Amino acid sequence: MKTNTLLQGELLSAHTSFQIGGPADYYAQPKGEDFPLQAASLLSWAKERSLPHFILGYGTNVLANDEGFPGLILDTRYWDRATVEPPAEPGAPRIIRASSGMTGDQLADFAEGRSLAGLEFLAGFPGSIGGAVYMNARCYDASISDVLESVEILDETFTNKTEPCKPEEFDYKTSPYQKRRVLILSARFRVRRGNRRKIHYKLMEHRADRITKGHFCYPCAGSVFKNDRRLGKPVGQVIQELKLRGTQIGGARIADYHGNFIINTGGARAADVKALIELMQKTVKERKGVDLEPEIVFL
Ligand SMILES: Cc1cc2nc3c(=O)[nH]c(=O)nc-3n(C[C@H](O)[C@H](O)[C@H](O)COP(=O)(O)OP(=O)(O)OC[C@H]3O[C@@H](n4cnc5c(N)ncnc54)[C@H](O)[C@@H]3O)c2cc1C
Repeated sequence: MKTNTLLQGELLSAHTSFQIGGPADYYAQPKGEDFPLQAASLLSWAKERSLPHFILGYGTNVLANDEGFPGLILDTRYWDRATVEPPAEPGAPRIIRASSGMTGDQLADFAEGRSLAGLEFLAGFPGSIGGAVYMNARCYDASISDVLESVEILDETFTNKTEPCKPEEFDYKTSPYQKRRVLILSARFRVRRGNRRKIHYKLMEHRADRITKGHFCYPCAGSVFKNDRRLGKPVGQVIQELKLRGTQIGGARIADYHGNFIINTGGARAADVKALIELMQKTVKERKGVDLEPEIVFL
């Protein structure tokens, strides 16, 4: 196997925004230009040993098990470059190609630096581009699929492929990759020439908004549940109206400032978070008749 880092017993709490999770049997953080080759080699190594694998971006949407993970975690965060492609023909949109390990916030900065508009909604977004495509992340009324042109993957047979984005295959916080076992290597986004100052102000506005809403006050994984139209309002508001904010189990607490955030107040275990999730689901089902669907991924 060709890789430059393979750790054993690495704690997932060090790699997830919840700061929760036990040891992974194997943890790889490939670095360098040959990331795709290293990733293919690692994934086939795991397959030959019948080890499960999990692709990890920034771990900002993951609840990792207290017992850890009995297989290989492939961390993409060092695969973080971006380039601008010239327009294919006069008048065609410009394209930014971003590797999966870059954060949304870094990509917003990259676009701003080149006076390219269209990715401002990603300012302050803490997850990776791979994670954002996988989750079809949505912020400030825009979804990744709105600007996605194509996705480069390592498919189920570890073959490198580029697939055009088919908007009909994406939905609210849903992408076709959630039904597949592929590694997203990079994504190409449509952008347009813009006024750098205006773009800059938008980025500042979004970042300030996230700070005001308390996104980064405590370890958390953003919204726990997907919004549900049947509720007629955001899940966070429903949780607030049901007076569940501030409910605590072990070290996990429903944030006092955001009904759809569970925070780690210190020493929370995955079991505490799960118990809170179940309590929120049970209460909303009893009082509103709606089954809340978790947005966070259980590892
Ligand atoms: C403070 C805070 C604010 C947030 N705000 C928002 C928001 O505004 N909008 C929103 O949509 N989400 C938000 N989130 C949630 C989270 O950032 C997104 O879901 C993000 O897309 C997850 O990216 P990640 O790199 O952290 O993925 P991870 O959490 O590491 O992984 C999530 C899933 O994506 C898969 N995955 C990750 N990378 C790849 C890849 N390269 N190839 C294949 N699969 C991959 C993983 O296997 C996993 O199933 C927020 C989270 C936090 C902590």
